[in-house]
Amino acid sequence: MQISFELLHCSDPDVFDAVLGEERRQREGLELIPSENFAFPEVYATNGSVFANKYAEGYVGRRYYGGQQFTDRIESLAIERAKQLFRAEHANVQPLSGSPMNQAVYMACLAPGDTVLAMDLSHGGHLTHGAPVSCMGRIFNFVRYKTSPPDGHLDYDAILATAREVRPKIVLCGHSSYPREVDYSRFRAIADDVGALCMADVSHVGGLIAGGALANPLDFGFDIVTTTTHKSLRGPRGGMILCKSSLAQKVDAAVFPGMQGGPHMNAVAGIAVTLKLAALPAFKTYAAQVVRNARALADELLQLGCTLVTGGTENHLIVIDTVRSFDIDGRIAETALDLAGLTVNKQVIPDDPRPPVKPSGIRLGTPALTTRGMREPEMKQVAAWLVQALRAPTHEPKLRNIHDQVRALCKEFPIPGLEP
Ligand SMILES: *Cc1c(COP(=O)(O)O)cnc(C)c1O
Repeated sequence: MQISFELLHCSDPDVFDAVLGEERRQREGLELIPSENFAFPEVYATNGSVFANKYAEGYVGRRYYGGQQFTDRIESLAIERAKQLFRAEHANVQPLSGSPMNQAVYMACLAPGDTVLAMDLSHGGHLTHGAPVSCMGRIFNFVRYKTSPPDGHLDYDAILATAREVRPKIVLCGHSSYPREVDYSRFRAIADDVGALCMADVSHVGGLIAGGALANPLDFGFDIVTTTTHKSLRGPRGGMILCKSSLAQKVDAAVFPGMQGGPHMNAVAGIAVTLKLAALPAFKTYAAQVVRNARALADELLQLGCTLVTGGTENHLIVIDTVRSFDIDGRIAETALDLAGLTVNKQVIPDDPRPPVKPSGIRLGTPALTTRGMREPEMKQVAAWLVQALRAPTHEPKLRNIHDQVRALCKEFPIPGLEP
């Protein structure tokens, strides 16, 4: 079996050109969006494999279609490896992505109108943690906690006080733009205090937890941990739910038939391979380097006079307050950096006075650069380019000149599996 790009080229040059263009863009730019990464090369093979043709509604040994010898084999492998790597009692590897994964947990554990205590979107939480624009926000009662000035860290005493007041069924921690480590023992104690389930959504940092660079909430007795598989974990696009055995049946039923029909078995095959590779010593080295690179990048940005939300980082991500640092909003910053070959995303900062389309900051992270083999010296260089570009956001020649330098660096650090 082989993936035929020649055939695609003949049949549909438009789509082929877009694939080629995207490949070039990824090769010749620096991917700094903290939720993005380059998958293990093996994942391109599983994604494009014949498993994409197969319906497998149901679970291992109890499917609704015939012909499941091989789907059962890969799903069992993925489940066993997930349980072992994350020290989980139960694993569901079928969620199509992170959002349906969290929705399935809510459907499994809550009745409509029940309360969840979760992190506010502008303070680092995720859409699926009950943002008013999300459909889950309309079904359940999300009460959102915030970070506290002046340092912008979580205030656990305040979270406990809110929990006692609103009596949530789930206490949820986890985030997409909070650059600090979470005190999981405090969250477990808060949930115990009010008799709630304790859940962590580690979508961004799942790979760093698997690699031992950050703490694992399952080691603190959490009931449920969810993670995407395509961010720091370097797998295919997908989601995983890890939970206590006592919740296994409810969680499985909520994923299928509750939320989804047929799982994407090509993604499940990719998750199985990913979890094997993420258990190897090389992935521990990778995870530790992601965190070291983020620290190096943050330190250099601070040296160069940037204002960072919470003043730094303890994980893989950094939020720059571009208004305070450069007197430009995040949208202008994102556009300028795109021209310079530095891909970031505009980002709201805590209690942002500006609207989400023109927020006060940008978010960056180091998982993808680290996958290319970059280390502290390259982070110093990247910080310098970021600051040069953000000081001259409308100076096109300067931005293009930075992109030329970026391209030269990218040549030295090819994307695994996409070496020329
Ligand atoms: C990315 C992310 C998700 C959602 O993942 P999608 O695959 O984009 O649906 C959920 N929770 C958190 C914390 C995330 O960062």
